[in-house]
Amino acid sequence: MSDYLAYFQQRAPEMVALLKRLVLFESPSHEKPLTDAISAFVGGLCADLGATVEVFPRAEVGDIRLARWNEGAPGQPILILAHLDTVWPAGTLATMPLREEDDVLYGPGALDMKCGVVVALEALRGLRDRDELPARPLWILFNTDEETGSQHSRELICTMAVQAGVVWVMEPAADGEALKTWRKGIARYTVRTTGRASHAGQAPEAGINAVIEAAHQALTLHRLNDLPNGTSVSVTVIQGGIATNVIPPEATLQVDVRFLKASEAQRVDRAIQSLGPVLPGAGVTVSGGIDRGPLERNEQMLRAFGQAREIAASIGLELREGGSGGASDGNFTAALGIPTLDGLGAGGLGAHAAHEQVHLRTLPRRAALLAKMLRDWDMARL
Ligand SMILES: [Zn+2]
Repeated sequence: MSDYLAYFQQRAPEMVALLKRLVLFESPSHEKPLTDAISAFVGGLCADLGATVEVFPRAEVGDIRLARWNEGAPGQPILILAHLDTVWPAGTLATMPLREEDDVLYGPGALDMKCGVVVALEALRGLRDRDELPARPLWILFNTDEETGSQHSRELICTMAVQAGVVWVMEPAADGEALKTWRKGIARYTVRTTGRASHAGQAPEAGINAVIEAAHQALTLHRLNDLPNGTSVSVTVIQGGIATNVIPPEATLQVDVRFLKASEAQRVDRAIQSLGPVLPGAGVTVSGGIDRGPLERNEQMLRAFGQAREIAASIGLELREGGSGGASDGNFTAALGIPTLDGLGAGGLGAHAAHEQVHLRTLPRRAALLAKMLRDWDMARL
């Protein structure tokens, strides 16, 4: 076994203890006092590890903390992203208690992503105790609203990411402790059709049927699908009409779009923005657009993953690739062109589900991997 693996294996009890402490902080995204509490606690741990910790106050969600090591060192910073909020409402611990059984820890937010916070802190601690901190700035940004879309942290994440050479996201690992080298991006649209109301019995010919117009638009939208290439265009909600005996004057469609490639986002966006009416006299207006770009499995991603895989191999770990249809904060940074690796957290099952669990034996392996990546990463190879 490598020196690194053996070193972090010895730290397993401390890692598990810290993970339990973090899970006992319930931290739903929209409960500011609760997310403030865990943010302050984690900021304190970083300060104990020698970081300079900056607080970015937020009025509606928990304060963001940015921990920096090696400020002033040469070289581009590595930015690590970790969110402290969970999808679970306050009080969930009463029905879904923290529970350790064999090698598994159950509890709300344990996997997504309190285990990732533990891995990041432990990697920093290990490097510091071994006197192996690399000669470059290391940043960890802890936000508190990822699970609800990062509206209050997206700008800061992007501001820090463009100054960094690489971004690593502590979301849970994919199956088999794989990194996530792709995530789909999201676009959302509302398509509103307008027609003309008229009595459905007395003068149907005088009306313009906005529901029929919406039906035409729904079929046009459906034809934009390219599922083999990972692009889905789903009309998910349709509403229209005002009464059974009235030709409907208006209708709306809601559209959910997911894509693996930025080029696909552009193709679909152009098509949707240029939708026009089919029925004479009808109107079509489109609102919405691209929300998050994809974490794209492009050349840059393959180079970044290749380097991570080599570093993993140097400590005897085989690193695989995986992905996710869901988005993370990594989507924002990848869309800016910053090399982004995701899924550096621990292994487990059931994120956002009642059986959420962390497989504890993966914790030391992930800390060893992250520590070695922090020490050995070569920005010039990106
Ligand atoms: Zn997460």
